Amino acid sequence: MPSPSDLPASGVPRPSRPSPLPRPSPGREAVSLREVAHRYGRDREAAPVLGPLSLAIPAGEFLVLVGPSGCGKSTLLRLIAGFERPSSGEVTVGGGTPEPGRQAGVVFQQPRLFPWRTVGENIALALRFAQVPRAERPARVEELLERVGLAGTARRRTWQLSGGQRQRVAIARALAGGKELLLLDEPFAALDALTRERLQEDLRRVSALTGVTAVFVTHSVDEAVFLGTRAVVLSARPGRVALDLPLALDRTGNEDPDALRGAPEYAALRAELGAAVRDAAR
Ligand code: ADP
Repeated sequence: MPSPSDLPASGVPRPSRPSPLPRPSPGREAVSLREVAHRYGRDREAAPVLGPLSLAIPAGEFLVLVGPSGCGKSTLLRLIAGFERPSSGEVTVGGGTPEPGRQAGVVFQQPRLFPWRTVGENIALALRFAQVPRAERPARVEELLERVGLAGTARRRTWQLSGGQRQRVAIARALAGGKELLLLDEPFAALDALTRERLQEDLRRVSALTGVTAVFVTHSVDEAVFLGTRAVVLSARPGRVALDLPLALDRTGNEDPDALRGAPEYAALRAELGAAVRDAAR
């Protein structure tokens, strides 16, 4: 069971003051992949694990990537993060070549925090890398923690937190410094079901309120429909775009999550996406 402290203290936390975090201008292209293919290693004859595929992700899109294991979802995320360069084709983020840690904040399945540092220090470090002046960091840390439902926890050590809380800190850290792009690789897969739902609800709200562009890898069709504004299904290795589906559910950031999960449009999208994922795995 998650501890009650997994859950935001006051239900849905809301920013109490105007946000200094930048909002992306909608319509601008945040990420572009043109004829991208990737193979690991130096062997040019080796079979590609991904592509060729092309994808344009406008600013403010919350794109969920689904597909069978090994189809190249994490590889695609690593190419966008700049951790890998594509074997062929071109990846751009904000119009430029992606550089690790520059344009995108990344959240992995394991939170990868510094356990001997406090929650606030973990986030402040990211603000330092983003060249936020030292004097501004404490207020920014507090604001980011408030956004992810962890207000007032800056002085706690990360080893004192539950798994769900740690992942909240990892999300706050990824948002630090006003990153234009959030890349999440199955961030909730290791959490228990109830904690996972809470984090989905909070991430949905945070993304709707900040308008941050996101690419989110998941195995869960439910999670995909709940979080995404658009779903891309990749075929089995080498992953190519098998389906590109807009997820046109109302999205203000203030929806009742239970009503949303119970809506007929939600069930229809889940059925359509689920069928496409099953086809892709064949
Ligand atoms: P997914 O996230 O969809 O499960 P991955 O992108 O992790 O897929 O992996 C795609 C394929 O590339 C898999 O077959 C995997 O074994 C292979 N692969 C992943 N990382 C490496 C690597 N560093 N070196 C060689 N092969 C890799």
